[in-house]
Amino acid sequence: MPKEITTLVTFFGATGDLAKRKLYPSVYNLYKKGFLKDHFGIIGTSRADLTTQEFQDFVRDSIKEFMKEDAPIDFLRHFDYQKADITKADDYAKLKALIEKLDTEFALKGNRIFYMSVAPRFFGTVAKSLKSEGLLSENGEFNRLMIEKPFGTDYATAEQLNNELSHAFNENQIYRIDHYLGKEMVQNIAALRFGNPLLAKAWNREYIDNIQVTLSETLGVEDRAGYYDTAGALRDMIQNHTMQIVGWLAMDEPASWTDQDIRAAKNAAFNSLKIYTPDEVAENFVRGQYGPDAANTQNGYLNEKDVPADSQNNTYVAGKLAFASDRWKDVPFYIRTGKRLAAKTTRIDIVFKQGFNLFTNAAPLEKNVLSIIVDPEGRIEYTMVAKDTTAEFKTRPITLNWTVSAEDKAQTPEPYERMIHDTMDGNGSNFADWNGVAVAWKFVDAIQSAWDATQQEFPNYVSGSMGPKAADELLARDGHRWIYEG
Ligand code: NAD
Repeated sequence: MPKEITTLVTFFGATGDLAKRKLYPSVYNLYKKGFLKDHFGIIGTSRADLTTQEFQDFVRDSIKEFMKEDAPIDFLRHFDYQKADITKADDYAKLKALIEKLDTEFALKGNRIFYMSVAPRFFGTVAKSLKSEGLLSENGEFNRLMIEKPFGTDYATAEQLNNELSHAFNENQIYRIDHYLGKEMVQNIAALRFGNPLLAKAWNREYIDNIQVTLSETLGVEDRAGYYDTAGALRDMIQNHTMQIVGWLAMDEPASWTDQDIRAAKNAAFNSLKIYTPDEVAENFVRGQYGPDAANTQNGYLNEKDVPADSQNNTYVAGKLAFASDRWKDVPFYIRTGKRLAAKTTRIDIVFKQGFNLFTNAAPLEKNVLSIIVDPEGRIEYTMVAKDTTAEFKTRPITLNWTVSAEDKAQTPEPYERMIHDTMDGNGSNFADWNGVAVAWKFVDAIQSAWDATQQEFPNYVSGSMGPKAADELLARDGHRWIYEG
C-alpha cells in the first residue's frame, strides 16, 4: 500500500511550459498511485489572470494532452489558483490567505512545499518573500522548497542565490532539482555498486582502470542561442548533470541509506576533486564547437540563428577529472558532452584493469567493461573475458546484456514524478546538495576562466562526428580510448 502523503504544494509559474508538460501530469500520477488521496492541496500562482475554474481546466487540459486521460473532478477539486506578481510583496498576502484556506479545507497539518517553476532571477526573491510575508507554516511538520535549474551561472552567483535561500530555508529543506538524478538508470548506479559484492569490492583504484561518462546530443543549438551562447556545454551540461552522475560514481559507500549519509558521502568525494590551474585545464580539458556536417547540409554553430560570428562558445567539452581520495588516486574520470554528435545517449562506461594472461593466448586479454546506458533506453552491458569455442585454448570478449523491458518501462516513474514524490516524502537523496553544487561551480569556473583567456580555432569538429580529435588524443595519451564510439 502506498504511504499517503499530507501536504500542500504551491507551484510558482503555474501557467508555464514546465508546469503544463511535467508538473501536473506528475501530480496526477501520484494521485492515481494513491500517494495523494484526501489530504492534499495544490495552489497554482502566476501573473496570469485566471479563476480557479480556469486553472482547473488548465490542469485538466495538461493531463489530457500529455497523458491522454480525463482527470476526475475528485482530483481537480484539490487545485486552486491565485494571481500574484512575485516581485510585489503585497501580493503574497492573498497567497497566504489561500494557503490557509486549503490547509483547513483538506486538513493539511501545515505541511508545505513551494515549487519554484519560474525564471531563475526570481528564485531568491520568492524564497525571501515566503519568509518575510509569513507563508511558511510554524506548526506544520515541514516547509520545503523545490528549486529549478540553473542554480547560478558561476560560483559567485550560485553562492549569492544560496545565501538568499538560506534566509528562509535550511539546507535540508531545499530540494535542488537535477532531473538526471531522477532518471531510473542513474538511480540504478547505487544498486549496482552497493548491491553486488563483486562490484562493491572492485569499485576502486585497485581494479578500475578508468571511468567514462558521456552525455551526447544530436541536435544543435536550435533556437536557444540567446541562452546557450552565454552558457555553453560546460555550464549547460557539465556543471550540473555530468557532475551529479560523477557524484554517484565517485562516492564511498554511505554509512547508511539515508539522504543525510548519501549526501555526506557524495560531498566527501566532491571535496577531493582537484580544481585545475590554467595549465592543468589546457592539459586535461578540450573544448569544441561544431562545424557543418560532412555533406554540408547542416549549419555550423557560427552560422546558426542569433550566434555571433566570432563566438568562442563551446558546444562540446571533454575532460579528465582527478580525485585525490585513496579510492581514486590516479584513476581518471573522463567526461564528455556535446551537441551535434553522432548519437544521442547518456552512458557510463567503467573500464576495469586488464587481467593477468595465464593462457598461451598471444593477444592481450580484453579489459572488462561495465556499461550503464541511461538514455535512450535503460541497458546494462558487461563485457568480460571468456573462452573461445575453437579447439585451441584462446580467449575472446563476450558481452552480457540486460535491457529495461517494456513492462518495466511502463511502471517506471518519470523523473519529475519521482522528484515531487521524494520531496513530499522528505527524501533528499536524489537532489543536488549545496556543497556539491559549489564544488562543481568552482571546478567549472576554473576551466571557463582559462578558456576565456585564450582563443581557439573554431569550428573543430564535424557535425555528426563524436567530437574533436583532441578528445581522442586526451585518452590516447594515457593509453586509453573512448569505449563508446557513436
Ligand atoms: P515559462 O516562461 O513557460 O513560465 C514562466 C511562469 O512564470 C509563467 O507561469 C509566468 O506567468 C510566471 N511568471 C513570470 N513572471 C512572473 C511574475 N513577475 N510574477 C509571477 N509569476 C510570474 O517557463 P518554464 O519553461 O515553465 O520554466 C520554469 C522554470 O523551470 C525555469 O527555471 C526553467 O529554467 C526551468 N525548467 C524548465 C524546463 C522546461 O522544459 N520548460 C525544463 C527544465 C527546467
